[in-house]
Amino acid sequence: MAITIKNEREISKMREAGHVVSVCHQRVQAAIQPGITTDDLNTVVRDTLSELGATSNFLGHHGFPGVICASVNEEIVHGIPGNRRLNDGDIISVDIGAIVDGFHGDSAWTYPVGEISDEAKRLLRDTEEALDAGLAAARAGSRIGAIGAAVEGYARPLGYGIVEGYGGHGIGRQMWEEPHIPNLGSADHGPRMRTGMTLAIEPMLNIGTKDTRVLDDDWTVVTADGSWSAHFEHTVLITDGAPEILTKRLAAVVD
Ligand code: MG
Ligand code: MG
Repeated sequence: MAITIKNEREISKMREAGHVVSVCHQRVQAAIQPGITTDDLNTVVRDTLSELGATSNFLGHHGFPGVICASVNEEIVHGIPGNRRLNDGDIISVDIGAIVDGFHGDSAWTYPVGEISDEAKRLLRDTEEALDAGLAAARAGSRIGAIGAAVEGYARPLGYGIVEGYGGHGIGRQMWEEPHIPNLGSADHGPRMRTGMTLAIEPMLNIGTKDTRVLDDDWTVVTADGSWSAHFEHTVLITDGAPEILTKRLAAVVD
């Protein structure tokens, strides 16, 4: 499929879909605490999507049973929500998508559960910084490869394993559109970004090596060495200046 340029009406729908994803994240963040199950978080998002008149792009995709992916500690992406209880000191990556009037939003965030180790804090901070580096490189006129080069340029010197088999993507009327957006490589590879493109940018960093494997559930991707992993993702609109973040973080709910 060719890379699509969105018109104003399509962009406004993408903003709506992104906002729904942001509200879902806000509520998930408020719900995360030791003792809660990943299925409880799935329920929070299922109810929020329904309340806001949106549908899930994850549910039923190749048979996926959840509206979120919930990936704990050494799990990188595609964890299935279930009866696992979160423990104090865990980290959990929550990937959420929404469809509004046929347009898709997609954003992932890794959250601490209770009090986490300094090493885990560094992982979360550095992966978010790697996302920021990728976002800063998402400029009309540059090639898609500039995003991965920026992510790698930030993460490689810090010693992280940069996950290679999974990455960002175009997004719009489909959850996964062209182009694939690697999280490493040369800045002069790939198609040029143009104003009106919408992209999901999503670095995944491992404390250990880059190597991954898939669990017997055929979904959950984990680090091969068992080291912990983080995943931060925004859906963005390419503009004439800095990209517009369509899945912007809302203020955390204080209870
Ligand atoms: Mg995602
Ligand atoms: Mg994505």
